[in-house]
Amino acid sequence: MTGTVTSAPQAHPQDAAIEPVGVGFVAGTIPFSVVDGPGNRFTIFLQGCNFDCVACHNPQTIPSAEGAHFARTVDEVLAGVRRAAPFLSGVTVSGGEATQQPGFVLALFRAIKADPTLGRLTCFIDSNGACPPAVWSTLDPVLGGAMIDLKCLDPEIHRSMTGEPNDEVLASIRQLQAMGKLYEVRLLLLAGVNDDPELLRRTGEWLAAIDPHMRLKVIGFRDHGARPHDPPLVAPTSEQREAAADLLAATPGAAFDICLI
Ligand code: SF4
Repeated sequence: MTGTVTSAPQAHPQDAAIEPVGVGFVAGTIPFSVVDGPGNRFTIFLQGCNFDCVACHNPQTIPSAEGAHFARTVDEVLAGVRRAAPFLSGVTVSGGEATQQPGFVLALFRAIKADPTLGRLTCFIDSNGACPPAVWSTLDPVLGGAMIDLKCLDPEIHRSMTGEPNDEVLASIRQLQAMGKLYEVRLLLLAGVNDDPELLRRTGEWLAAIDPHMRLKVIGFRDHGARPHDPPLVAPTSEQREAAADLLAATPGAAFDICLI
């Protein structure tokens, strides 16, 4: 989209009703992805994030940049989806943080569901989970599923990793499970930061209490794309990643569907 922006995405909502917004701030799109939800997906990366994660692989998408350079209309995004549609299972909105622009996501997903040629596509969100419950309840009628990052169950470690508390993240996981829309919880492992065995045991128990059959993706940190950090962030070894997955799998009463990458 070019020219003057006349319709800005709404601010991050608290209690306000979420209305559809026809223009979003988009960092980029990829026509085919097999790592952003089930099947082959068109993925839209929104610009702007409410976290500032030390391990972020796309730090250029963190600043909110509400200008014409990033502005895209729903129709412009749909044009790309239509070109790829014959090969797609669905569409995923990622980030930055997708829930920072809920009005745009709502308008986009409604437009997909209303289009006879696109309505079969599932609409997913990849999110850090830090948003009010109204975001999920508003999106529910058009949402196929959500992938939620749980950086750490421990609130202080979570804050050290992201700059923010984790209460909304935990609430989002509970809410999405209750809605039947929790597709996957993603656990990023940072060696020496959030991989303590006792912490992982507690994490497994917390998740199992919500859904003992939950789909978990355990992701070892890799420094590709991440900003330099002092002291340097440490990628877990394959043995450490496997040990973490084994600990989660051993959670009493749980039969998690665990994917380790
Ligand atoms: S939530 Fe995701 S996009 Fe936002 S700072 Fe963290 S890793 Fe980066």
